[in-house]
Amino acid sequence: MGTSVIVIGAGAAGLAAAARLREAGAEPTVIEARPRIGGRIAQEHGFASVPIELGAELIHGEGAATVALAAAAGIALAPVDRYGSLRWAADGPACPLAELPDARRELIAALGATYRGLAQDEPAPDRSLADELRARGFDAEAVAMADVLLAQTCCASVEDLSSADLARELRADRAGPLEFRPVGGYGPLLAWLARGLRIVLGAPATMVRHGPDGVRVIAGGRTYAADACIVTVPVSLLAVERIRFDPPLGPEKREAIAAFRTEPATKLFFRFDRPYWDAGLAYMAHTGLFSRWWTPAHHRPEVPLLCCYITAERARVVDALDDEALRRAALEELATLLGEPAVRSRCTGMLRSAWGADPLALGGYAHLPPGTAGARPALAAPESPWLHFAGEATAYESNPQTVHGAIESGWRAAAACLRLRSP
Ligand SMILES: Cc1cc2nc3c(=O)[nH]c(=O)nc-3n(C[C@H](O)[C@H](O)[C@H](O)COP(=O)(O)OP(=O)(O)OC[C@H]3O[C@@H](n4cnc5c(N)ncnc54)[C@H](O)[C@@H]3O)c2cc1C
Repeated sequence: MGTSVIVIGAGAAGLAAAARLREAGAEPTVIEARPRIGGRIAQEHGFASVPIELGAELIHGEGAATVALAAAAGIALAPVDRYGSLRWAADGPACPLAELPDARRELIAALGATYRGLAQDEPAPDRSLADELRARGFDAEAVAMADVLLAQTCCASVEDLSSADLARELRADRAGPLEFRPVGGYGPLLAWLARGLRIVLGAPATMVRHGPDGVRVIAGGRTYAADACIVTVPVSLLAVERIRFDPPLGPEKREAIAAFRTEPATKLFFRFDRPYWDAGLAYMAHTGLFSRWWTPAHHRPEVPLLCCYITAERARVVDALDDEALRRAALEELATLLGEPAVRSRCTGMLRSAWGADPLALGGYAHLPPGTAGARPALAAPESPWLHFAGEATAYESNPQTVHGAIESGWRAAAACLRLRSP
């Protein structure tokens, strides 16, 4: 008999852990609270002629683990050069960088270079990205731009993002700068990871008892026993003690859990009767409320679909708007960004995906505020030889907040479980 392992959570981390365990001859059982696999990867198929990614959408890096997995699964990838083709708007329509006034183009380049430079230049003391930029001479306008171009991607405010954790991420992430979308979405990739696995759906785990005799997990009114357990639920749920542990988690783990913050993340999809933009549009941004827009079906320019993705305070504001107010305000900003008033009346449908309202996510993905950069390895550390933690927030050796980081964290925890029975 191989090592038996209960994996709590059928998101990217949990499925990757279970698949790796199964390949190695162990016996994983995945326990999932939702009636579906995928967690923060979820698709909607009825809204447009392409699947809509309500959560994760892009693969960040040509060397990301997801690129190799997609190749193994026979899933094609569509490249997209979002940052190279960025269009920025100051007052009017969004312009390609080459058409911006020199000063603004140079400012965007300087922000990018400073951000990437954090990798070499460990910020000490750890301070927010905003304070780090101010200390390097950037003004309020530049910090507001960094909030959109750098911090929003991290599901955080620029005022609350640890520079030291960003520096760690920049050093650890070896995936590279290129970006892709899996053609057909992330769904088929997860289905491929899940093939042949024993997965119990609709079973929220509420208690994990752990000790030298193994683990007992209470989920959906049943008790599951195994040699070890990997917990992959979002750290936001650990913080509100959605799962209790017996014996309770130690002080280092509790301190690490408390350090993370998970802000809301909201994706808005707008369908039109035809595209009111050119085929080259991949990504546009400004400092407005609806700050970042892209073409989710970029490789299919005939598909009249746009996505607006906002996080943190902007998402909090937007989440409080009713559909009509939200649609009106978003289309107003979009009309200015595109220089195309027709989009106000030519929208044929809007879809909202608000992760802050999801009880099994409680937000988008977790970030660390200044002064807490040690929390990622502490969250990732095994609590005992029988109790392990994975999930995007634990991906301290990779890029957290991503699918590939979550997958690598699952592989790390699986390897630790496999050592349990090694001589
Ligand atoms: C809007 C949005 C956009 C994103 N865009 C991208 C992107 O473009 N590219 C990218 O790489 N990443 C992106 N991400 C991040 C990416 O989705 C996550 O990093 C990754 O999917 C997290 O995987 P995970 O397994 O760690 O967590 P999850 O996917 O959250 O999986 C955890 C699972 O645990 C389950 N669970 C929770 N509580 C319990 C319980 N008590 N018992 C049993 N099961 C439980 C949950 O239902 C969930 O299925 C995005 C995320 C969001 C929200």
